[in-house]
Amino acid sequence: MFKALVLNQDDGKTTAAVQELSHSDLPDEDVLIKVDYSSLNYKDGLAITGKGKIIRNFPMVPGIDLVGTVEESADSRYSKGDKVVLTGWGVGENFWGGYAQYARLKADWLVPLPEGMEPIRTMQVGTAGLTAMLCVMALEEGGVTPDKGPVIVSGAAGGVGSVAVSILSGLGYQVTAITGRPETAEYLKNLGAQEIVTREEMAEPARPLEKQRWAGAVDTVGDTILGRILAETDYDGVVAACGLAASFKLPTTVMPFILRNVRLQGVDSVMCPFERRQQAWQRLQTQLPENAIGDIAQIISLEQLPEYAEQITNGQVKGRVVVDLNQ
Ligand code: NDP
Repeated sequence: MFKALVLNQDDGKTTAAVQELSHSDLPDEDVLIKVDYSSLNYKDGLAITGKGKIIRNFPMVPGIDLVGTVEESADSRYSKGDKVVLTGWGVGENFWGGYAQYARLKADWLVPLPEGMEPIRTMQVGTAGLTAMLCVMALEEGGVTPDKGPVIVSGAAGGVGSVAVSILSGLGYQVTAITGRPETAEYLKNLGAQEIVTREEMAEPARPLEKQRWAGAVDTVGDTILGRILAETDYDGVVAACGLAASFKLPTTVMPFILRNVRLQGVDSVMCPFERRQQAWQRLQTQLPENAIGDIAQIISLEQLPEYAEQITNGQVKGRVVVDLNQ
């Protein structure tokens, strides 16, 4: 028997409870994994609280990412004792996920732990951090180098935002952070943000084109903030958009695209191909400043998840939350 957080539906309302499961309850997939750590992402918050239509089949073990050790594998790529990390592919949404001491998953979904990376570090980074790295890669591929000028990160004190600020400043970019929580200014400066601008200022609806301020951007929130970022992006700049913490709307015009050659690059981590994931994980191992991660992440137990899920959906969680399955 082992512990898991199980979601059910009761009269259309999502309920979450820690339960005892047995191995025979697990889905029939290639690889049995003993889970060491999972993490809490915005999407997990929506799933656990039922505030977002993330889960359609109940009962469900949520948790969109995990790190653990292979116990049994029917696939020749993995054998007992291998350390693996998983993010995305609909795990924790359509397939049972990381909030359990054991998981059965498809071998295709797994990535071997990067050489020299501690298991806990992969979940300190988690889906949010992997997405932050994919956004940084998108800026680089669009030609946004540190010498091009300042870059801006929205939702900066959140999971994706914190890791993005940290990676970008470590790579030598001049980073401006947008936050709605002035009390996180010190934290963001420690992660490497050189300037802080308020959410209020950036959420003001923009004219089609505003004064050019940013060589590039990582946007985790959408809506008028993304609209304003696009209107303020420099000629030839790139905006990597990965989130909707404000909303899924995007009030903008074609003007930044047709008059300033601005590129809006969408970033998805869920279906990201294996090679690109592996590359992003390798880079996270070497390019996320070591001192940052301790500041970014806190550790909680399975039992604390419902409380933290409520907080993350209210924009009240700072940085990253690791879930220790053995606590
Ligand atoms: P967090 O909740 O940790 O961070 C979101 C941050 O956004 C908050 O901390 C807050 O930052 C800011 N924020 C919250 N509400 C609002 C609002 N109403 N208006 C403006 N800003 C707001 O979430 P994550 O970092 O885990 O995820 C961020 C987004 O990225 C989510 O929408 C998530 O779904 C998406 N995502 C997408 C992925 C993909 O593959 N495309 C993968 C992972 C995440 P502050 O307090 O600093 O203002």
